[in-house]
Order: sequence, then structure tokens, then C-alpha cells
Amino acid sequence: MARGLKKAGVSVAVHERYGSRRDGLYGYRVGIAPTGNRALKECLPPELFDTFVATCARDPRHFTVLTQSLRTTATFELPESRDAVDSAAPKDPADTALLENWSGLQFDNTRDYINLSVSEPEAAFPLRTAASVPVDPWPTTAITLLGDAIHTMTPGRQGVGANTALRDASLLCRELTAAARESKPLRTAIGAYEAEMIPYGFTRVAESLDNNGTSGDDPLYRPVTGRLALFAARSFFSVTGKVPALRRKFRADMYAYRGSESV
Ligand SMILES: Cc1cc2nc3c(=O)[nH]c(=O)nc-3n(C[C@H](O)[C@H](O)[C@H](O)COP(=O)(O)OP(=O)(O)OC[C@H]3O[C@@H](n4cnc5c(N)ncnc54)[C@H](O)[C@@H]3O)c2cc1C
Repeated sequence: MARGLKKAGVSVAVHERYGSRRDGLYGYRVGIAPTGNRALKECLPPELFDTFVATCARDPRHFTVLTQSLRTTATFELPESRDAVDSAAPKDPADTALLENWSGLQFDNTRDYINLSVSEPEAAFPLRTAASVPVDPWPTTAITLLGDAIHTMTPGRQGVGANTALRDASLLCRELTAAARESKPLRTAIGAYEAEMIPYGFTRVAESLDNNGTSGDDPLYRPVTGRLALFAARSFFSVTGKVPALRRKFRADMYAYRGSESV
């Protein structure tokens, strides 16, 4: 959002707890869906957006399900990249130059990104996950909230916290820019942001909870039902991996757009 405001000529100050990429918790990358991609394109200066595209992970060629003893239950071949963000491998010298200057490359990258925490407990880090409880709209002031500060959600298949934070950032940036250009009073602009953000933010929180395994009370974590759930999951993958129509449906579901903007 700060980049977007700066691009629009609005004065902005950022106060950040950590001074470098080596402080705090780092070590996971997030999946950016079309919502986050659109917001980044809107807020970032073109050269930073190009850096984002050039540094996206390459699309995997296979999705493989393993048992705890590393036996393959099913393998799905995945389609070739379909858009510019997917095909992130540097293609021309300009991309290579961008990568060389990318501050992310100064990150101490001596550890694997893929951790098998069962066999390497020291390679894992604890993470406390939480989901926000919906709140009623509040009287608008000159202070507002965005991202996890208002709608923290559980990560996983339906977890789109970063994409939703970016959607907030582009929306609030548009509203604050309008206020700075005096086409709207400041509080009206912040109020318009909050009126739009609260419904979609908490819809995404609810969707993230509707996802096996993100609640400690889930039957998955009970002794008997947990074994049954594991058996059902293995049978599902084993059958789906073998039946072409089910394989196609599984692949289509994997690529279904997370965090639709209809709400
Ligand atoms: C394992 C995992 C996987 C995830 N995968 C995905 C994914 O694939 N897709 C997706 O959309 N989302 C994903 N998320 C969620 C996503 O990471 C968050 O929703 C997103 O980072 C929220 O962004 P934010 O800017 O609101 O908060 P944060 O990213 O938490 O940023 C808050 C910033 O505020 C700073 N700060 C905190 N306190 C202070 C203070 N007192 N003073 C100054 N600065 C302070 C912090 O240092 C930090 O830089 C995942 C989350 C986890 C944990």
C-alpha cells in the first residue's frame, strides 16, 4: 500500500519492527492468486512488479501424495503454466539482471525450503495459527486496519490471507489517494474502505475454516475417527489417481480460483 501511495504522490511513512530479512519468522512462500496479483500490479511500480513476476516459484510438474513411509499413493501430472505469473523462470537478460539485484537474494538461503519435519524435527519451526472472529462495523476514525490485523485466517487450501491483505491494500490505497486529491473527505474514504473490506475479509476467514484439519477439534485428530479419515483420504487419492475422469476433476479443483472477488 505504501508503494501505491508513493506512486500516486501521497506522502507515506512505514514503521516496521524488523530491520532486515534475517529478523523474525521467515521461511515460507505464499501462493499469490489473481486477487493478489491484480493488487500488486496496481500498487507496485512496474519494475518491482516485474521483479515479483521474475522471482515467482516455477510451477511444479507433478503433484504427488506419499504415505509416511514415503510410498507413492498417487501422482498427478500438472498442466504447463498458463499465464505470465506462472511462467516465472527468467527468460531474457533483463530478468536475470532484476534477479541479481533482488534484495530477497540476500536472504541466508543455506537451509532447504522443503522440510521433512518428521525426519528432521530441527528443520521445522512452530507456528501459532488463529482465525479472527467477525466484528460489527465500527465508527470510522482516522485509524483503520488491514490484512491479518483485522481478518487473520488459517493457512491451507482455502487460506488466502496474503491475497486478501493485498486486496485491502489496493482498495485502501485507491480511497486514500482520492482523499489526498480532495475528491473525498478522509473519513468518508476510510469508511468506504471499511464497508467493503469487512464483508469480504470475514467471508474469506469463514472459507478458510471450512477446510479439513485447520481446527484442533477436527475428527482428523481423534484416535478412531482420525484413522478412518486417513484411510478414506488414502483410498480417495488411490482411486482418483487411477481413474482418468477423477484425475481431470482433481486437477481442475486444484487450479480453481481461491478467494473469488464475488464477495
Ligand atoms: C505457513 C503459512 C502459509 C501461508 N500461505 C499463504 C498462501 O499461500 N496464500 C495466502 O494468501 N496467504 C498465506 N498465508 C497468510 C499470509 O502469510 C498472511 O495472511 C499475510 O502475511 C498477512 O499480511 P499482513 O501484512 O497483514 O501481516 P504480516 O505479513 O504479519 O505483516 C505484519 C508486519 O508488521 C510488523 N509488525 C508487527 N508488530 C509490529 C510493531 N509492534 N511495530 C512495527 N511493526 C510491527 C511485522 O514485523 C510484519 O512485517 C500463510 C500463512 C502461514 C503462516
